Amino acid sequence: TSFWFWKKRYSRKLKRSAQIMKMFGIDLLSPSQNKTNTLDKWEIPKENVVVNRRLGEGAFGMVYGGEAQITSGQWTAVAVKTLKSGQSMEDRLDFLSEAEAMKKFDHKNIIKLLGVCLQNEPIYTIMEFMLYGDLKTYLLARRNMVKEKFTDESDISPKRLTLYAMDVACGLAYLAEKKYVHRDIALRNCLVNAQRVVKIADFGMARPTFESDYYRYNRKGARKLFPVRWMPPETLALGLFTPASDIWSFGVVLYEVISFGSYPYQGLTNNQVLEYVKNGKTMHIPLGVKPQLEGLLKACWSQEASKRPTALEVVEYISNYPRLLTPALEVPATSIELPESQ
Ligand code: ADP
Repeated sequence: TSFWFWKKRYSRKLKRSAQIMKMFGIDLLSPSQNKTNTLDKWEIPKENVVVNRRLGEGAFGMVYGGEAQITSGQWTAVAVKTLKSGQSMEDRLDFLSEAEAMKKFDHKNIIKLLGVCLQNEPIYTIMEFMLYGDLKTYLLARRNMVKEKFTDESDISPKRLTLYAMDVACGLAYLAEKKYVHRDIALRNCLVNAQRVVKIADFGMARPTFESDYYRYNRKGARKLFPVRWMPPETLALGLFTPASDIWSFGVVLYEVISFGSYPYQGLTNNQVLEYVKNGKTMHIPLGVKPQLEGLLKACWSQEASKRPTALEVVEYISNYPRLLTPALEVPATSIELPESQ
């Protein structure tokens, strides 16, 4: 890499660290020195938080279920994200940047941040509790229900599947309005609460739109594998993230919902997906998909980002078809045609 390239990357990193430090008003390297700082209004004393079971493993540490007293004396069910002790400065910043992004949001389809515990290790972020966990596991577990008779009220009826998709689209429309790009829209990052409302979670990669030309490819030591199967050609080729790249990912989520958690581009390796999508190809539409949904999938997967619908347009479109998504369990494998020379 050239010096200029390195310098740009390095100064961006420094700027980001400084911004976050300022926002938190704390010394990120030695939290024990932060006692004298003025407390963030989101800070909750640890004695008001009870952690009682594991929910899953996050990128930075375990996610627990528990209870917390947030404002009034009332205890409410919460999810507690922890940062493993001994993490690097950069991990700490990434962990905190998720909470920092979430503080700006207040919408029924975005996971709510309820508070933070940053005064001593391990640090916590406290979020609203989503009883049914992620939508991928939820739908995978309900695959066998497709064979049974179901009503509109069933967890997997076309009406419900359409509502799940609508919830994600509404969340995306809100993020676009707030000028945020999520960058990791996928079924595993959509959580389901006790009322079956779906909310977008995992803001670890989210950035304000104006920072969206940030090249994640250049990040050293990225913990997560790239969500290649959810990325449009311009993100794969140029590392460009925009509201329109979130819409492409939303198209992949639609596919995941109707196929009950099937892996996108089944039959291809990550590298093959990369080449396939960069060559202008998209996933096959499963058999039995309604033509109106096929139209939406194709629009979300337009090669040109500017031709994709906005999240608001998607919301309006889906609202015309209350049973737009129907189960499509038989998904065709994606095959690659070999170039003629081979
Ligand atoms: P990370 O973003 O650090 O990888 P995730 O947000 O993916 O972590 O969380 C890991 C797992 O923890 C999820 O798959 C989900 O099962 C569970 N989880 C996360 N947040 C919640 C929540 N608010 N309510 C219930 N379960 C949650």
